[in-house]
Amino acid sequence: MSFDDIYSDFIMHHYRNSGHRGIDKESDLMEKGANLSCGDEITLFVRMKEGKITSLAFDGHGCAISQASASVMADLLEGKTLEEARKTLSNFSKMLRGEIFDENLLGDAVLFERLREYPMRIKCVSLAWKTAERALMK
Ligand code: ZN
Repeated sequence: MSFDDIYSDFIMHHYRNSGHRGIDKESDLMEKGANLSCGDEITLFVRMKEGKITSLAFDGHGCAISQASASVMADLLEGKTLEEARKTLSNFSKMLRGEIFDENLLGDAVLFERLREYPMRIKCVSLAWKTAERALMK
Protein backbone atom coordinates (compact mmCIF):
# COMPACT_ATOMS: atom_id res chain seq x y z
CA MET A 1 0.00 0.00 0.00
CA SER A 2 1.42 3.36 -0.98
CA PHE A 3 1.20 6.41 1.21
CA ASP A 4 -1.45 7.81 -1.16
CA ASP A 5 -3.64 4.75 -0.59
CA ILE A 6 -3.24 4.93 3.16
CA TYR A 7 -4.02 8.60 3.05
CA SER A 8 -7.19 8.26 0.96
CA ASP A 9 -8.38 5.32 3.11
CA PHE A 10 -7.87 7.45 6.17
CA ILE A 11 -9.87 10.35 4.71
CA MET A 12 -12.70 8.16 3.40
CA HIS A 13 -12.94 6.20 6.62
CA HIS A 14 -13.44 9.36 8.65
CA TYR A 15 -15.70 10.89 6.02
CA ARG A 16 -18.05 7.91 5.86
CA ASN A 17 -17.95 6.44 9.35
CA SER A 18 -17.37 9.26 11.73
CA GLY A 19 -18.63 8.42 15.20
CA HIS A 20 -18.90 12.12 15.90
CA ARG A 21 -21.44 13.12 13.30
CA GLY A 22 -24.75 14.41 14.60
CA ILE A 23 -26.62 17.32 16.12
CA ASP A 24 -26.27 17.62 19.88
CA LYS A 25 -29.09 19.72 21.25
CA GLU A 26 -27.75 19.51 24.79
CA SER A 27 -24.30 20.87 24.00
CA ASP A 28 -22.69 23.62 26.08
CA LEU A 29 -21.06 25.34 23.12
CA MET A 30 -22.12 25.58 19.51
CA GLU A 31 -20.15 27.22 16.72
CA LYS A 32 -20.66 27.40 12.97
CA GLY A 33 -18.04 27.78 10.29
CA ALA A 34 -18.00 27.90 6.51
CA ASN A 35 -15.45 27.78 3.73
CA LEU A 36 -17.13 29.58 0.87
CA SER A 37 -14.42 28.79 -1.68
CA CYS A 38 -15.34 25.09 -1.55
CA GLY A 39 -18.88 25.16 -0.11
CA ASP A 40 -17.92 23.40 3.12
CA GLU A 41 -20.04 24.02 6.20
CA ILE A 42 -19.67 22.78 9.71
CA THR A 43 -21.41 23.18 13.06
CA LEU A 44 -19.62 21.98 16.17
CA PHE A 45 -21.33 20.93 19.39
CA VAL A 46 -19.14 20.75 22.47
CA ARG A 47 -20.01 19.43 25.90
CA MET A 48 -17.82 20.45 28.80
CA LYS A 49 -17.59 19.10 32.32
CA GLU A 50 -15.17 20.26 35.00
CA GLY A 51 -12.98 22.01 32.45
CA LYS A 52 -12.79 19.03 30.11
CA ILE A 53 -14.31 18.39 26.71
CA THR A 54 -16.49 15.36 27.28
CA SER A 55 -18.05 15.25 23.83
CA LEU A 56 -17.52 16.89 20.47
CA ALA A 57 -20.04 16.31 17.71
CA PHE A 58 -20.29 17.93 14.28
CA ASP A 59 -22.86 18.37 11.60
CA GLY A 60 -22.16 19.69 8.16
CA HIS A 61 -21.55 19.02 4.54
CA GLY A 62 -18.85 19.64 2.01
CA CYS A 63 -15.83 17.90 0.56
CA ALA A 64 -14.44 14.74 2.13
CA ILE A 65 -11.38 16.55 3.46
CA SER A 66 -13.38 19.13 5.40
CA GLN A 67 -15.65 16.52 6.97
CA ALA A 68 -12.91 13.96 7.65
CA SER A 69 -10.81 16.63 9.28
CA ALA A 70 -13.67 17.47 11.66
CA SER A 71 -13.92 13.82 12.63
CA VAL A 72 -10.18 13.47 13.26
CA MET A 73 -10.23 16.65 15.32
CA ALA A 74 -13.18 15.44 17.40
CA ASP A 75 -11.34 12.17 18.16
CA LEU A 76 -8.36 14.17 19.28
CA LEU A 77 -10.07 16.80 21.41
CA GLU A 78 -12.50 14.63 23.35
CA GLY A 79 -11.23 14.09 26.87
CA LYS A 80 -8.85 17.05 26.75
CA THR A 81 -8.91 20.05 29.05
CA LEU A 82 -9.54 23.46 27.49
CA GLU A 83 -5.87 24.29 27.86
CA GLU A 84 -4.76 21.07 26.12
CA ALA A 85 -7.35 21.55 23.40
CA ARG A 86 -6.15 25.08 22.66
CA LYS A 87 -2.57 23.85 22.49
CA THR A 88 -3.61 21.10 20.08
CA LEU A 89 -5.46 23.56 17.86
CA SER A 90 -2.55 25.98 17.69
CA ASN A 91 -0.19 23.10 16.90
CA PHE A 92 -2.33 22.13 13.96
CA SER A 93 -2.16 25.70 12.60
CA LYS A 94 1.60 25.71 13.04
CA MET A 95 1.88 22.47 11.10
CA LEU A 96 -0.12 23.89 8.20
CA ARG A 97 1.98 27.05 8.20
CA GLY A 98 5.15 24.95 8.02
CA GLU A 99 6.35 26.03 11.46
CA ILE A 100 7.86 23.81 14.15
CA PHE A 101 5.11 21.89 15.91
CA ASP A 102 4.71 19.09 18.44
CA GLU A 103 3.48 16.08 16.51
CA ASN A 104 2.81 14.14 19.72
CA LEU A 105 -0.17 16.39 20.28
CA LEU A 106 -1.67 15.78 16.86
CA GLY A 107 -2.03 12.00 16.54
CA ASP A 108 -3.49 10.99 13.17
CA ALA A 109 -3.96 14.63 12.24
CA VAL A 110 -0.29 14.75 11.16
CA LEU A 111 -1.41 12.95 8.00
CA PHE A 112 -2.95 16.25 6.90
CA GLU A 113 0.46 17.89 6.77
CA ARG A 114 0.79 16.94 3.13
CA LEU A 115 -2.05 19.33 2.29
CA ARG A 116 0.45 22.16 2.70
CA GLU A 117 1.30 21.39 -0.92
CA TYR A 118 -2.28 22.19 -1.93
CA PRO A 119 -3.13 25.76 -0.88
CA MET A 120 -6.74 25.42 -2.07
CA ARG A 121 -7.21 22.53 0.35
CA ILE A 122 -5.82 24.31 3.40
CA LYS A 123 -9.14 26.07 3.96
CA CYS A 124 -11.00 22.75 3.74
CA VAL A 125 -8.80 20.96 6.23
CA SER A 126 -8.61 23.84 8.69
CA LEU A 127 -12.33 24.72 8.70
CA ALA A 128 -13.25 22.55 11.70
CA TRP A 129 -10.10 23.55 13.60
CA LYS A 130 -10.69 27.28 13.09
CA THR A 131 -14.30 26.83 14.13
CA ALA A 132 -13.20 24.98 17.28
CA GLU A 133 -10.72 27.77 18.04
CA ARG A 134 -13.55 30.29 17.97
CA ALA A 135 -15.75 28.07 20.16
CA LEU A 136 -13.03 27.40 22.74
CA MET A 137 -11.50 30.85 22.91
CA LYS A 138 -14.74 32.48 24.09
ZN1 ZN B 1 -13.58 21.63 0.85
